[in-house]
Amino acid sequence: MKISMSSPDLTDADRQAVIEVINTPVLSMGKFTPAFEKTFCDLTGAKHAISVNSGTAGLHLCVRAAGIGAGDLVITTPFSFVASTNVLLFENAIPVFVDIDPKTGNINPELIADAAKNIEKYLPPNTRISNTRNSNIEYRKLKAILPVDVFGQPADMDSINAIAKQNGLAVIEDSCEALGATYKGKHAGTFGDYGVFAFYPNKQITTGEGGVIITSDDKAADFMRALRNQGRAPGDTWLSHTYLGYNYRIDEMSAAMGHAQMQRLDELLAKREQVAAWYEARLAEIPGVEVPYVEPTTTRMSWFVYVIRFDAKLNRDALAKKLEARGVPVRPYFLPIHLQPYMVEKFGWREGDFPVTEDLGRRGLAVPFSGVMSEEQVEYVCQAIRQVVSEG
Ligand SMILES: *Cc1c(COP(=O)(O)O)cnc(C)c1O
Repeated sequence: MKISMSSPDLTDADRQAVIEVINTPVLSMGKFTPAFEKTFCDLTGAKHAISVNSGTAGLHLCVRAAGIGAGDLVITTPFSFVASTNVLLFENAIPVFVDIDPKTGNINPELIADAAKNIEKYLPPNTRISNTRNSNIEYRKLKAILPVDVFGQPADMDSINAIAKQNGLAVIEDSCEALGATYKGKHAGTFGDYGVFAFYPNKQITTGEGGVIITSDDKAADFMRALRNQGRAPGDTWLSHTYLGYNYRIDEMSAAMGHAQMQRLDELLAKREQVAAWYEARLAEIPGVEVPYVEPTTTRMSWFVYVIRFDAKLNRDALAKKLEARGVPVRPYFLPIHLQPYMVEKFGWREGDFPVTEDLGRRGLAVPFSGVMSEEQVEYVCQAIRQVVSEG
């Protein structure tokens, strides 16, 4: 049985939308870009949606819009895809990591509150110790919180927003894994000053590559629209540039595919939910295997990946190898950001700095997951897991 790690869920209508574009000369900045954006305002109630060519580009524009610059501090999570931290490094800002909730893998608000009060205690080692290899990274002021809705489950946004308000901080919600999820009945991405979605082919909808920022801030929206378009402000001509900008525009083929996919968002999410339910029914009863935990505040989970955790007594990497040998692709999820080589080099973090993140990083394994998986495929994967676990 052929089983893929992930798969886009495309119909002929989705493909037809792209063909419609390539039969015209307008391959960028045409009508599909605003039409795609409007689907996000309609879905979430956000005032503005700004499409870009990746989720990373979207997060980067939010960092610029929030005025985060060299030496500024941003509280964020080491248990994420690296992009959520990289966008801070692009502006020479300093990530201040706090550990996570062991149940959900989302950033722990109690630790955010403590970090906002006692920031020195949470600074990366190389900003504190003056005689290490990369010593004396100068830090300035705490500016923002950047939570991530991990694996499609919203972070505890009410608590995070309360801390942000108390401390005058901006909030950038990385919802790149959580399109369509709701927290206490409200859409992921709408809680902070900015929210970002992403559409790489393993995400809930895909545009090939792409992202969307949502915000209700008029000025920030204008600024981010200018920055994605080489810094051209409203009124600028093609060769005049008010700001230092980027080419972060989405193309029309991608926007058309995304627009078509958004018409089916509910169906896409429901199919993924069904696959998750098939997994849970089979895996929950295997001793030594933990299935994902969904908080009561998560009124809709938007299943992005399906990550199980093995008991600490089991050897995750050995089991992963055995699963691969049986034709079941798997992936450790996540490898902690603070232990990535370039992060260690720059900031000096060490193993042991974020124990919950590291524990989940050692025990977590993403199994094949997409909305196009059949129950037979899920059964095959679960049977393989049952066997390799029982062999020890
Ligand atoms: C997918 C993802 C992104 C953005 O990814 P792109 O590949 O740049 O679209 C950002 N943050 C998280 C947590 C993600 O999972």
